[in-house]
Amino acid sequence: MRELQDRRGYQEIATPVLVSRKLWEQSGHWDHYAENMFRLLIEGQDYSLKPMNCPESTIVYRSRVRSYRDLPLRFSEYGRLHRNERSGVLHGLTRVRHFVQDDAHLYVRPDQLGDELQALLGEVAESYSWFGLVPRFTFATKPDGALGDPALWEQAEEIIHGTLERTGSPYTVKPKDGTFYAPKIDIYIDDALGREWQMATIQVDLVMLPERFDLTYIDEHGEARRPMAIHRAIYGSLERFIGILTEHFAGAFPFWCAPVQAVVVPIASRHNDAARELGALLRDRGIRVEVDESDSRMQNKIRLAQEQKVPYMLVLGDREIEARSVAVRTRAGEQEPPVGWETLADRLAAEAAARRP
Ligand SMILES: [Zn+2]
Repeated sequence: MRELQDRRGYQEIATPVLVSRKLWEQSGHWDHYAENMFRLLIEGQDYSLKPMNCPESTIVYRSRVRSYRDLPLRFSEYGRLHRNERSGVLHGLTRVRHFVQDDAHLYVRPDQLGDELQALLGEVAESYSWFGLVPRFTFATKPDGALGDPALWEQAEEIIHGTLERTGSPYTVKPKDGTFYAPKIDIYIDDALGREWQMATIQVDLVMLPERFDLTYIDEHGEARRPMAIHRAIYGSLERFIGILTEHFAGAFPFWCAPVQAVVVPIASRHNDAARELGALLRDRGIRVEVDESDSRMQNKIRLAQEQKVPYMLVLGDREIEARSVAVRTRAGEQEPPVGWETLADRLAAEAAARRP
């Protein structure tokens, strides 16, 4: 994600976990969301552990005067968030009290909204394609009692609708299902078991950040104008996403994102030195590799790695070491002919870089 975001011109920011009550009063969360926040009293002042990154990003926006030429501004943040969920609803990795969200807030001029949304839909499609997942979208429109200028809502909804049509993204409309400050696009996927998961969201915020925090940019005539703010998360809570992926792949992660990509298996203890050397060579190429130097028999080492769904087992004995080669086994039980260390390193580095599901 960071590589994609660099390519797209994001700036990564990091805002404090501990946030003054004053900021939540300004955003409106203190009135509507306080029971979900962990609160702390520090020197007689109310603070909370942040449940979201939104208002904090406005402080970065307002740290200097912004011109129409500065926009769009894209602030990403892997914020550590805390939400005081009731213990009864906590569930594995998919519902936790402390999580990291792949969050971003984008500040755009109204005339930039269409292009920015189109690029965001592209980001979503690309980042799910690395896992072989195909996102679907819903378009949630203005609810009753929404805040903000009705003409602005109409303009934003027209642009969102046009962008979804233009990109040919599969979507359905959910009338009146937007938030009180933003029309939004929600992202859904189906996992390998056919279950539907609501993942993350793209909200076009017309009110909460722009108005409550009085954000402006200076237009070409020197007039102060209101930007639009886009809240976007793609995977959402990373903990929840990893939980969903673990079930989706039944633990057999694609090579590029497997926590351990290869285990070097020395046949006997006299092969340990060479095994360590091969491990270091692969690690040097960015491969996540472990060396099994335990006293277990070779077959047990291989079985253990297969149970852990490690993509490759690299077996080293006298013959292989003499030829500076290694016998490759896959987690599916296939055996490949011995291959030279350097050739293997090239192949695994290329496979990781390809990010295939
Ligand atoms: Zn936000």
